[in-house]
Formats: sequence, structure tokens, C-alpha cells
Amino acid sequence: MKKHAYLTILLITTTISCTSVKKVAFSKPIDTTDKPIVLQEKKQFEVSQLGVYASNQFKGARLNGFSYENDTVVNVHIIAENTPINPSPYYAFKCWSDQEKTVYFKMNYPPKIKHRYWPKTKTNQGWEFIDSTRVIKKDSLVYIKTKLSKTPQLIAAQEIHSSDAVKEWYKQLIKGKESWIRDLVAGKTVMGQEMPYLDMYQGDPQGKEVILFITRQHPPEVTGYLAFQRFMEALLKESANRDTFFKNYRVVVFPIMNPDGVDQGHWRHNANGVDLNRDWSKYRQPEVRNVVKTLSKILKKNDAKLILGIDFHSTWYDVFYTNESRADTHYPQFIDQWFSALESEIDGYKVNEKASNSTTPVSKGWLLYGHRAVGITYEIGDETPRDHIQIIGETSAKALMHILLQSK
Ligand SMILES: [Zn+2]
Repeated sequence: MKKHAYLTILLITTTISCTSVKKVAFSKPIDTTDKPIVLQEKKQFEVSQLGVYASNQFKGARLNGFSYENDTVVNVHIIAENTPINPSPYYAFKCWSDQEKTVYFKMNYPPKIKHRYWPKTKTNQGWEFIDSTRVIKKDSLVYIKTKLSKTPQLIAAQEIHSSDAVKEWYKQLIKGKESWIRDLVAGKTVMGQEMPYLDMYQGDPQGKEVILFITRQHPPEVTGYLAFQRFMEALLKESANRDTFFKNYRVVVFPIMNPDGVDQGHWRHNANGVDLNRDWSKYRQPEVRNVVKTLSKILKKNDAKLILGIDFHSTWYDVFYTNESRADTHYPQFIDQWFSALESEIDGYKVNEKASNSTTPVSKGWLLYGHRAVGITYEIGDETPRDHIQIIGETSAKALMHILLQSK
């Protein structure tokens, strides 16, 4: 974006007044007022002809129907919470049978929606991709060949990390570090869940530059969350660098921005049927409002600046979405330095960067237009190998810490 355009945006930003927090203007506003959604009926499903059962009675489940087709095929029906919606046809269900038998689950989605996620299952060893011999593609349909027994098994679009699992993970992560990591609540979600955040710094917070990490605005985007987990684990790993880092910077972390959507097995939206990552202009949804209010309180109270924010997501492939305008940000060279560190640290790795200036109200644009912060949308591919996610997650955290410490 040219400099004068950027200044225009800054002017628009400051002219929209608000009683509590500053709103941020975007060139293409999006209507993020509440939309009706259909909650799935939570129940046990039965195909009586075959003695085959399924259930969606757990957090993170999505199963909207289950029906007989023939003696070997059972229909699995999946719909979204509302429409229009991005094509992220998430599914997750438990299945079992009276007697041992092999069936083919035929995946049924609404018209024009194609099967997207490679099916996974949970075994005693943890989550695994279902073997390719069991995933049969015929025309545009996908069948999952499954050997059923009385013991229920899980079949899901992605590893299930419900709000409970997220909480369990971060409680464990911050164990023993409670003197400098505060485990706090930013507010409530539409369905009344608490929205947790972690506030990390050592010493005096006054004037300390603030960094924001958020994830799970979009429920099925689990691989972005997996990268975020490895990223946070590397950031908090005990070292001399770590303590110096947290003496110099304050890190505010939202480990689950859309717990309602995650627990309801939504394809994309919150419980008001809205894409949270289009609401970073007027904050009509409580989840976004909670983040913005929490941050502005922190910044105001401590006379501090928000310098950098990373929002973890997933898409079809690994990509970093960045802002094209960076000369006026608090750290114009950060992105180039970070990406070259990633390429030199990871064998054969090539950063896929897509730079643009956000036109719709996404977090990356809010960081730039609202705070002159470096904004990055950190996207991991749906089926990126999990060991590779670990390498990218860990290396990107270490590189970030190193670069930011060198600038001090
Ligand atoms: Zn996303």
C-alpha cells in the first residue's frame, strides 16, 4: 500500500470513536452481526438393519445423520452450523456395532461441498491417519472402510482438541511458572464459556513491549493449533534466553478464541454464526471484543505498545500471510529476518509467504491498522506431517526469541 493510502486508513481509524475500545476501519467491511445457527442434535444414532451405531455425544463431535444404504454401506451426513460458509466440512463421531463387521461409511455433505479432511482415528498410540487402503474415492464420493466391533472407535476430520483438552494442555505447560505466567479469564463466550488467556512477563510491566499470540478462531484448523502448541512449548522451555526474553517482552496468549465453535464441532463460526476472523473492525462478537478489551487495558495501564501478533490457522498448505506495508510498523525488518532464520535453520525448508494488505477485518490487518504492529497469519496445511509441524513450530519460536532479543 502506498504511504498516503496508509495515512488515510490511520485517519479513518482515529475518526471512528467508541466509548471503550478503538474500532479499526477496513476498506471492505463485513457484516458480523449475529446469524442463526443450527445446533446438531446430540444423540446416539442407530442403523438397525446392520446393528451399527454412532454417537456425537462428546465435545468436538460433528455428525448430523446416520442412515442405511445397503448391507455394506452406511451414510454419514454432515452439515455446517449455518451458511454461507467456507468449505471446511469437519466431521467427528464414534462408531461401533453389535457384532464384528466391516462397513463403508459414505461421507455425505451439502451440495457443492467436497470431502476435504483425510480421516484420522484415535488408538492407544494416539491419533493416526487412517490407512490409505481404507479411504476409497469413487467419483466425487469418499468411503471410509471400517472394521467395527463392540468397542467404540473415533473417526474424525482432525485430531480432537476440545476446550477441556486445550485447558489441560496449557495448565501443564505453565506448571511451576505461575510466578510469572498469569492464568486469567478475558470474559465469556456467546454460550457462556470462559475465555482463557495467559499473561507472561518477568519484572516490571511498565512500558514493556507486548506480543500477542492467538489461535483457534476457526474450529477445524487444528494443525495451526498443533504448531501453536509446539511454538509455545519452545518459547517457554527453560533457558537463559527465555528469562531475558520475558524480562524484555510481555506475551499475551489466547489459546482458544472460539471454544463454543470448537466444542460444537463447527466448520468455521462462533455460536452466533459469525466468522470471528472478519470481526476485527467493530468487535460485534464477544470473543473478539474480549481479546481487544483485554489488550487495550494492558497497553493503557502500562503505557505499552503492541509490536507483534501471530494468529495460528490452517489451510490446504503451509503459508504465512503477511502485511505488505511494514515500513511504518514497530519492527519493519522482523518478517524478513524471521523467514531467513527459518530457511537457514530447517533443512530444505522454503518459506511460502503471501504478502498483501488486508481489506476485510482480519486480525493481521487489525494489528497493522490499529497498532502499527507486525501482523502474521501463520497457516499450516491440513495434512502437513505432524513431525514437520513440530519442527516448524519449535524453530519459529526460537528464531522469534533470538531476533527480538538481538534488537534490544
Ligand atoms: Zn482460519
